[in-house]
Amino acid sequence: MELNYVKKDVYSQLTEKQIKDATKYTDGYIKFITNAKTEYLCVEEAVKMLEENGFVKIEEKEKLKPLDKVYFVNREKSVFAAVIGEEDISCGMNIIGAHIDSPRLDLKPFPLTERDDIAVLKTQYYGGIKKYQWLSIPLAIHGVVYNEKNEKVVISVGEEKNDPCFTIADLLPHLSKDQLKANADKFINPEKMSVIVGNIKDKAEKENPVKMNILKILNKKYGIKEIDFARSEITLVPAFPARYVGFDESLIGGYGQDDRVCSYATIMSLIETSKKMQKKTNVALIVDKEEIGSIGNTSMNSRVFDLFVQKLIQKSSKSKVSELEVYYNSKMLSADVTAGVNPDYEEVHDMQNSSIIGCGISIEKYGGSGGKYNSSDANARYVSEVMNIFNNNKVIYQLGTLGKIEMGGGGTIAYILANKGVEVIDCGTPVLAMHSTFELTSKFDVYMTYMAYKTFFEN
Ligand code: MN
Ligand code: MN
Repeated sequence: MELNYVKKDVYSQLTEKQIKDATKYTDGYIKFITNAKTEYLCVEEAVKMLEENGFVKIEEKEKLKPLDKVYFVNREKSVFAAVIGEEDISCGMNIIGAHIDSPRLDLKPFPLTERDDIAVLKTQYYGGIKKYQWLSIPLAIHGVVYNEKNEKVVISVGEEKNDPCFTIADLLPHLSKDQLKANADKFINPEKMSVIVGNIKDKAEKENPVKMNILKILNKKYGIKEIDFARSEITLVPAFPARYVGFDESLIGGYGQDDRVCSYATIMSLIETSKKMQKKTNVALIVDKEEIGSIGNTSMNSRVFDLFVQKLIQKSSKSKVSELEVYYNSKMLSADVTAGVNPDYEEVHDMQNSSIIGCGISIEKYGGSGGKYNSSDANARYVSEVMNIFNNNKVIYQLGTLGKIEMGGGGTIAYILANKGVEVIDCGTPVLAMHSTFELTSKFDVYMTYMAYKTFFEN
């Protein structure tokens, strides 16, 4: 009998067949995060995946019976999907929830300007970034603009091989003497994160000829005018694809893995488990705005999810149960990433209570910061329940905290569902270089994340 707890890596415990399955899964995942770098694109991809597997809009169904598969899209930025279980929904749901927004650079309402013959777009960063990581790398632009006829125009440039890309020019080291004296959090001024978009003058224009040339290009291509930027949501993201990392191809590098690694696993596991009758009504949700505090009508804090649950109850339940009662009886995995130990920075982690890349999906009993402020601290009874479900189904997992106390901290959507009365625990993939333009995960942790969520939906 092993008395002490020993962490084991995933790879050594997998069979040849499982290693093949893992690769198949992560090949699909790499495509997903390369194609879906904004919440809009994630919703599009998720809906495509759901529809291909027999899910229909909840509005199309008057009544719901066991094994029915439905989804609801909230304003193009969040998706809720459900598979009706054998048991009445009044006995509670199994919920897995992830977020599909990632740190990025948004455009200001009037972004286009010209200085020194260069046309630039002014940006405002979204979420917690280290600003210097976004300088002098290729950026792609994605977004939607509405014109005066209220028509939606989609913009997407920089991902295809023959597309141009965009970039913010960092200051050359030769002239950075003053800049390099500033504190790291000050040395990049967010007002100086302008994205270069052009350098050619329109001969017909006397004032701002470079800016005018860009406006003409945009008008020709998209039918938009300068004022239309004010009714747009346009975002800059790293232009490069996700790919395997390392001689042994054991890692995955890519933008937006927080939290699309868990979002992809959430959708994939719901689809996989929808092929058989499950006991509980299973619900997958992928939501927006987590990175800026889960505020707004497309965030987890929005009551639109309550509306979805109300519909599920009305259409499927024989009882007149309230939505509160359903929440009280429900269980959830808050599917969000956590920090893996970065070997160059062990000092920020309590090594006995940290997640190691490659050792499986990580269960985090609590997050928050300092004295557990703002943390959703899971009940021990529920931690035990989830551990036992994983143990009984050979899910390889580890238990960790984000980092040393008072080193910083972080939150997820866990507390929002916990506040509604749901039993919730954070459970997601460990990541290195989180919130960077090239986040790193272990291929086998990514696969184990999917296996864990699948197991949760089956129990
Ligand atoms: Mn996250
Ligand atoms: Mn995050």
